[in-house]
Parts: sequence; C-alpha cells; structure tokens
Amino acid sequence: MIRQYSGIAPKGDLLLIQRLCNRLKGKSFLHVNSTREGGGVAEILHRMIPLLTDLGIDARWEVIEGDAGFYDFTKKMHNALQGKSEKFSKAMWEYYYETNKRNRKNINLNADAVLIHDPQPAPLIDFRRRSRKSIWMWRCHIDISNPMPGVWANLKKYVVKYDTAIFSVAKFAKALPINEFIITPSIDPLSDKNRDLTDKEINDVAVKFDIPRDKPIILQVSRFDKFKDPIGVINAYKIVKKYNDCRLILAGSPATDDPEGEAILNEVKDYAGNDPDIHTLLLPPDNHKEINALQRMADVILQKSIKEGFGLTVSEAMWKEKPVIGGAVGGIPLQIVHGVTGFVVYSVEGAAFRIRQFLNNPEMAVRMGRNGKEYVKNNFLLTRQIRDYLSLWYCSMYKGKNVIEL
Ligand code: UDP
Repeated sequence: MIRQYSGIAPKGDLLLIQRLCNRLKGKSFLHVNSTREGGGVAEILHRMIPLLTDLGIDARWEVIEGDAGFYDFTKKMHNALQGKSEKFSKAMWEYYYETNKRNRKNINLNADAVLIHDPQPAPLIDFRRRSRKSIWMWRCHIDISNPMPGVWANLKKYVVKYDTAIFSVAKFAKALPINEFIITPSIDPLSDKNRDLTDKEINDVAVKFDIPRDKPIILQVSRFDKFKDPIGVINAYKIVKKYNDCRLILAGSPATDDPEGEAILNEVKDYAGNDPDIHTLLLPPDNHKEINALQRMADVILQKSIKEGFGLTVSEAMWKEKPVIGGAVGGIPLQIVHGVTGFVVYSVEGAAFRIRQFLNNPEMAVRMGRNGKEYVKNNFLLTRQIRDYLSLWYCSMYKGKNVIEL
C-alpha cells in the first residue's frame, strides 16, 4: 500500500516511514476518539489505520461510547474550549468522567503507543497501566487558545498526566509541564475523497443531486456548525450574486458526536429560503466520492470558518487545484498562503470580494489552484503525518539519549 504513494508523496517522507517501521514493526499503536463517522479526525483515522497495519504496526482504533447526555456535555465543552460561553455543573463533569470509566471496560488500553484524540476521551489516561512501558499522547484537534475560563482548568487535570500533548497549530498550544509537539493533520490523496475522478463520475453526482452545471459553482463542505459560518457563506453568496450569476452548494453530513447539527441545518435551510440556486445537501457520512465530485465541479471553494481546528476541507480543495477562500482562523492560514495558494478573509464582504476576484480572473484562479496542490503535496499528505507520529513515538523511546539511530 505504501508503494502506491511513490510518485505522489515526497520521497523523503516515504523513506523515513520505511526506516521507522523497520524499528517499530510489531509494536502496538492504539488510537481512541469519540466518533467513527463525521469530522476530520474520523476521516484521517479511516485511512491511517490500514496504512499503519500494512506497514507492520499493530494499529487499532477504538471509539468511546456515550449517551445523549454525554455528547451534549462534550459538545458544550468543545464549544467552551473554543471560547463560547456555556454553563457547566459539577455533576456534568462527573458524568464525563464516569462515562470514560465505563468505556475503559470495553476498550483494551494496552499498547506501546496510545494516542487519545480530543477532549471527549481525555480522562482515559486515569486507566493507564503503569506497569507497562508505553507512551501516552493527547492529541488536540481544536482551537483551545482562548477557552472559557474554568473549562480548560478541568480538562488540564487530565492532560498533564499524559507524556506528550500534540496540537495542530502552534497558537493552540498551552503552557504545560509535559512535552508538546505541533503536528498538522493531513489528507489521503488516494482515498475516495481525494482520488482523481472521471468527468462522467463528476457529472453523475451533479445529476444525482440535481445540480445543473450551467453557471459557476461556489461550494462549502462542512458539518452544520455555527463555527463553520454557513449563514456567512450565504450572505457572501448573496453579495456576489448581485454581480455574478452563480450557484451555491452547502454540503454537510451529521457526526454522531455533534448533537447540534440538525438545528443548524434547519436554520440554514430557512435562511436560504426558496432560492433555486442554493443547494443545501445533507449527505450520509460515507459519501466520500460525492464530496470529491462536488469539490471537483466547484469553481471556488470556501471554508469561511470563524473558529477552526485545522480545516481539512481546505487541503482537500487545494489538492483538486481549486481556488480557495478561508476564514483567517485555526489551521486555515497554515494552508492558505494569502495571495499564493488562495485568500484568507476576515468578513462576509471580504469573502464576497475574493469570490468575485476568482470568478472574474480565471487565470489567477488556475495559477493559485496549481500552487495549492504543490503546497499540499509537500506539507499536508497522510504520509507526512504518519512520518511525524512515528518519529515522535520512536524518539520518545530514546528519552535521555543524545543520538538516535535509524
Ligand atoms: N466531510 C464529509 N462530508 C460532509 C462534511 C464533511 O465527508 O458532508 C468531511 C470533509 O471532507 C473533511 C472532514 O469531514 O474531510 C471535515 O474535517 P475538517 O477538519 O474540515 O472539519 P471538522 O469537521 O473536523 O471540524
């Protein structure tokens, strides 16, 4: 499988992965998160686990389970960590802990390396077997640079018990008494979400969703979440529409750990009204090829988030050589080099201005699209992320030694 990436991913990454795997072969690597479908974390794990296995690592992916009360709480916590004001009670924090405690019975936590994704399963660290020589890493995918006071303090109690914390963006990192690393997420160029499609495959999806390809298409793909600013996207489209005829597609799917999606979707549908050129699509989470086709049929792709972890959809769009416009938040400016691989924006008006600029300057759109693909190739492919995880794990085994041999 790794061979399939040769000629696509940078050679140095592939070589390093192979060297590291020679050393780590047979060792176990456990990932735990809170949803098997929906959102960027699940997206990456679906692709990374089989690849690690193929490389000879004993890789596993476990998902913690909770009831509606648990997910309501963790979504609130997620929002509060990203700065929204929410109310919490002591009982809620206890329930959060108890749910993790229950999960520990169903999840085999024994592994040489354990990577816990995001706040939902963070308390699992309390059930680490001290007798086993293993490394426990907490991987934060969200923007916790400006959390609601108190919420971070509660979560931090667990985080400091890990050996290492990993953030997607330097700005998100906290002052912690443990090792901290920045590792950006990635996309898989060979997945159904990103592989090349034929014109027929793209057209079939347009027909399936009843999207005429008669005018330029503006697209945003994301969960129906306030932080993704779908209403702002509609407002930007409305400004553009006064000057440039176009269509807008808002495509999203539900995530099992996101109970707010339905309410936001209804709000978006109401706001879109009966404009026949706005297509609001609620897709099943496994509709990867469909998302791929929507991205490929689009003329301009937006990720107008007002808070963002990394924003995988940006790299997905860039890989398809599309001109991108993203909110200047989270990991988006890491991907969009302003004026080179796309534009970052700070307002609805800014987004509308840049959409028009792309629609009116197709040559510029093509140039930036090409730059974008090259940039993703060098920085945001799955192979680079695997390289980073394995390097971190391997280096941690050499703690205290000055020379690391490969
Ligand atoms: N996604 C999808 N279907 C949808 C909406 C999103 O497959 O209807 C995928 C999207 O292509 C991307 C991931 O979900 O791979 C979202 O990751 P991102 O980092 O952009 O945002 P998150 O949801 O993790 O906040």
